[in-house]
Amino acid sequence: MSHVFVKYGHDGRQLTYDILESMRLGRQLDPAMTFGIKPNLVLAKPSESGATTDPQVTAGIIEYLLDHECSRITIMESSWLGDSTTRAFAKCGYEALSQRYGVPLVDLKRDSTYRCRVDDLDLDICRTPTDVDFLINVPVLKAHCQTHLTCALKNLKGCIPDTEKRRYHTLGLHRPIAALNKALRQSLVVVDGIIGDLTFEEGGTPVTMDRVIAGQDPTAVDAYCASLLGLSLEQVPYIKMAADLGVGTSEYSITALNSGSEASLHTGSIGHLTKCVAEDQACSACLGSLIHALRRLQDNDHPAPRQTLHIGQGYRGRGLPGVGVGSCTQGASVHVPGCPPSAAQILEVLTNMLSDDDAKNSSSS
Ligand code: SF4
Repeated sequence: MSHVFVKYGHDGRQLTYDILESMRLGRQLDPAMTFGIKPNLVLAKPSESGATTDPQVTAGIIEYLLDHECSRITIMESSWLGDSTTRAFAKCGYEALSQRYGVPLVDLKRDSTYRCRVDDLDLDICRTPTDVDFLINVPVLKAHCQTHLTCALKNLKGCIPDTEKRRYHTLGLHRPIAALNKALRQSLVVVDGIIGDLTFEEGGTPVTMDRVIAGQDPTAVDAYCASLLGLSLEQVPYIKMAADLGVGTSEYSITALNSGSEASLHTGSIGHLTKCVAEDQACSACLGSLIHALRRLQDNDHPAPRQTLHIGQGYRGRGLPGVGVGSCTQGASVHVPGCPPSAAQILEVLTNMLSDDDAKNSSSS
C-alpha cells in the first residue's frame, strides 16, 4: 500500500510547499542532486483553462527545493504534436517562473533520445529526464476522451519524441504508457488539482477542485485520482498494467492534511449539468466532485437524477428532502458523507438511487 497526501485550498504555491513539508521530503534531498520538474504543458493555454499545470504549484516545489539548498533544477516538457513547447512555456507562465527563480527550461522536442525495451515493446525516451537524479512529475487532475484519466502515469508522455507520441496512439496508449513508466522512473508526483478538466486533455471545460495531491508512487496517485473523477480502475487500464509491471501499486492510503471546507467557496453560476443541484455556500472542492460525478453518470448513459441534490455549508443542521452531498448535508434523507466526498462516492449513491427508481417503476407498471 502506498501513501497519498492531499491538501485542500486555492493557493497552489502554499499548498504544495505545505504538502512536501508534511511528507518530510527534505530527508530525501541532497544539494548535490539534480532535479527535473515535468509539468503538463500539453498546449499553450493558461492553467485556468483546466489544461495545464498551474505555475504556482511548480513555484511551491522550486521554493521547497531551494529552501533545502537544492538549486540544480530544470523544468522540462514537450507539448503535444502540432504545438510549440516554447509557446506553451511563455503562455503558461513558465518563462516568467524561469526568470524569477533562475531555473532553466528545456524543450524536450529538441532533446536526444535513447532506446530501451520493456517486455516486447521498444521505447524511445528523451535523455534529459532520464539523466536527472530526482524526477518530479507535476500533472493536472483531468479527464481524457480516450484514456478517461490523464494524470501522473500519462504525463510522462511529454518525455518522448513526437514520433513516439504518434506510435503510442497506434498501440492503443495504455500498454506503452505503462511500459514508459517502467523505463522512466519518477521520484515524486505532485498533482495540480486546483483546476482540471471535466472531459478533455486540452481543457475548455474547467472544473475547480481546489486541492494538491502528492505521493511517491504514480500508480497509487493515479488510482486515487481516478476515484476523484468518478472513474473505476477498469476504465483506466494502464493503471493496472503499470502495477503489473512493478511500477507501483493501485492500493493506497490517504492522508488529508485539512478538510474540504478550506477550499474556496463556489461563486458564479452552475452549468447545465447541475440543473438538479440546489447549492448554498458550497466549497469548490465539493461542487467539483459533484460535477465530475454527474458527468460520469451521463457518460454511463444514466438519466439525470429526478431528486434535488443539496450541497453546501448553508444546509448545515437542516432536515432535507432528496439527496445531500457532503458532510454539511447529513440531514438529507439520502446522504453522501465526506468533506469533500469523491466523485466515485457520489456516483455510487446516485447510481444505486437510479437503479432503485427503475425497479420501483417496473414493479408498479
Ligand atoms: S462537506 Fe461542506 S464544508 Fe465540506 S467541502 Fe462540502 S460544502 Fe465544504
